[in-house]
Formats: sequence, C-alpha cells, structure tokens
Amino acid sequence: MLIVQKFGGTSVGDLQRIQNVANRVSKTRKEGHDVVVVVSAMSGETNKLVAYAEHFSKNPSRAEMDMLLSSGERVTASLLAIALQEMGHDAVAMTGRKAGIVTDDSHTKARIEDINPATMLESIEAGKIIVVAGFQGVNIAGDVTTLGRGGSDLSAVAIAGAIKADLCEIYTDVSGIFTTDPRIEPKAKKLEKISYDEMLELASMGAKVLQNRSVEMAKKLNVNLVTRTSFSDEEGTLITKEENIMEAPLVSGIALDRNQARISLMGVKDRPGIASEIFNKLADAEVNVDMIIQNKAHDGTTNIDFTVATGDLFDAKAVVDTFVDEGEIKADSYNEDICKVSVVGVGMKSHTGVAAKAFTTMAENNININMISTSEIKISMVINEKYAELAVRGLHDAYELDK
Ligand code: ASP
Ligand code: MG
Repeated sequence: MLIVQKFGGTSVGDLQRIQNVANRVSKTRKEGHDVVVVVSAMSGETNKLVAYAEHFSKNPSRAEMDMLLSSGERVTASLLAIALQEMGHDAVAMTGRKAGIVTDDSHTKARIEDINPATMLESIEAGKIIVVAGFQGVNIAGDVTTLGRGGSDLSAVAIAGAIKADLCEIYTDVSGIFTTDPRIEPKAKKLEKISYDEMLELASMGAKVLQNRSVEMAKKLNVNLVTRTSFSDEEGTLITKEENIMEAPLVSGIALDRNQARISLMGVKDRPGIASEIFNKLADAEVNVDMIIQNKAHDGTTNIDFTVATGDLFDAKAVVDTFVDEGEIKADSYNEDICKVSVVGVGMKSHTGVAAKAFTTMAENNININMISTSEIKISMVINEKYAELAVRGLHDAYELDK
C-alpha cells in the first residue's frame, strides 16, 4: 500500500517523540508499504514564532510571517529524515515547494490550488521515504505561503489525494472519533468507521479532532482518512464514503455546541424583502447564522429567532440595532445561555421515529426545547445551556450508543 502518515505537534513534541515517530514509520516501511510522512511543527513552536514576531510588530507583514512560521515544520521534517536515515532508511525531507504544493497568494491562510506530485512520485519509485513539511506551499511567484493554523492536516490530505494514496493516517493525541465527548459521557465509544458527512456535522458542532477543511478535501478527493493516536497501537477511526460503511448505525454520535447565542426579533414588519435585508446585512458583517425560525404573522408583524456563534453576537447586535432604529423591528432580545445538541447519523435517512425519540428524551429529562432544525442526517435542538450535559447523556443512552 501507499500510505500517508501525518504527525501533529504533540506527536513530534520532543526529540524522543520524533524518534518514536521514526520507529513507527520504519515499522510501516518494513511491513512493505510505501510511506510519505507529513509533519507539523513541534507543539508550541508555531505559537512561539508568532510571539517572536509580535515582539517587533503588532501587525507583522503576512508574507514574512509565512517565511517565519513555515520554518517550524522544516525543523521536524529534517530531524525525522535524519532519524530515519540513521536507522538505515533512504529518507528525504521536502519543503512544501519541493513536494509541489502550489497555493494562491493569501499569505497565512493560503488555499492549495494545485499539487504537482512528480518529484514525490519519483522518490517513491526510487524506494525513498519522503518526509514533507506540512502547513506550507508556494505561490506562483515562488513565495512561501502557509495554509492557516492547523493546516498540516490539509497538507496530508491534499498530498494523499495527489499521489493517490490508499490511506491517509492522521496521528494525534486522541485515539479516534467518539460517539460523544468522553469527558461528558464516560460510556462514549470509539467509532470504527464514520462517513465524511457525519464527520463534518460532528466537527462543525464542537467535536474538534480534525480540521473541517481537511475533511471536506478528503471527501472531494475521495481520500480514506484514519485518525488515531501516536502513543499506542490502538486502531483509530476510518472516515470514508458512505458506501464503504455497511449497515450504518441509525445514529453515530451526539454533538454539543456550547458556543451559540440566540437572537429574538419581535414585531418585525411583515413585508416582502425584510428577511432578505436583515440576513444580507448580517452576511455583510460576516455573521454566521445557523438556525432561523419565523413565526406566523399577526397584526402585520412577525417574530424571527435565529442563532449565531457567540463570538459573532456583538456584530449581529450592531446590525439588528439599525433595523430597530429604523422602526422595522419593534424589539430585540439576546440569550447567550443556550447550547445546541445534535443527533447525527446517516442511518436516519431511511428510518422513522429518530427525531421523535430525541424529543421524548428531552421530555423525560424535563428539558425544554427552544428551537429545532433537521437535515437528512442530523437533528439539532437548542436548549438552555445548564442542561447541556444531561441532554447529551440522555441522548447517548436513548440511542444506545454505549452498546
Ligand atoms: N504548526 C501549524 C500550527 O500550529 C500547523 C499545524 O500544526 O497543523 O497551526
Ligand atoms: Mg496541529
């Protein structure tokens, strides 16, 4: 097999850990696989470099930041290659440029535009282990760029797609994707497999193991992703196409997003175009709106409730205030003490009663549901934040996710 193995910052956090990574790569190689390794900077290293730059400037040039930050990954890539050579392997370290990763011009948050894998493929052909510095590429002009914080996952997935790897393993300090946050529900179980879409729903709702952009890219490029820990031989979780998952469970996981706030607009003038105006203004202010509910109009006005990420609340308020000032909205109120619990599973596409069970669980626990939204593979409920953990545990139980 051709395998991409990506090691995050904690996995290469010190010299001993880099040696452990070398041992693992060596073992994979000896099992007869071709290996391309992608590494992050040693943990804390990127933050340290950012702090160095901020010592000199509050607003350092983004092109220089890329020169600076990309160095962290070069350090680990070259050290790992040296360790592998010392173990008798033919290993070679590559920068993003050498690996053929071409990005656009947006320094510090560049998008990968193209990968030219010729050099990598030649080295693989020659029997070499390649160690690529993650998180970086190069623009058309030849300047170093970086892919945004956490971007080395993206490097790994993009490379796996470009060289048509059989597998892309992402090694971190957690052992895989769980049915819910084990800190809330100790009975949470590690999933063997999960579909890209389920992973995206779980990740966007707070189950942060993988960067969302890299899951989206894996889906687009059809890359089989595995997340697993570098600290043991425990099997991880495979993230793959839905078709590869036989007998998908009804529900795969329960996600919790505490980072939500609710905005209620009362007495909104009931006329064509008003929703368009409000939500376009919110979009212009880069407010990310999630759930929206509009009530039946009464006396020429209606009520609209919606949720935003807590961090966007301030900007959202500013937009709403302009409508209140113009008399288009009579009153508004805000509630930050809410959270969103979601039941996620591709199996619910073909089953009835999944939503009813979620609502029953809330009823049995005496939890009032403020808002509901559903998609083909998800049921989300907004509830009072103080019931967050109770709701998660109740739902985990109701769908028997510990079985
Ligand atoms: N070193 C970079 C960061 O800390 C990229 C990565 O670790 O994925 O954001
Ligand atoms: Mg990282």
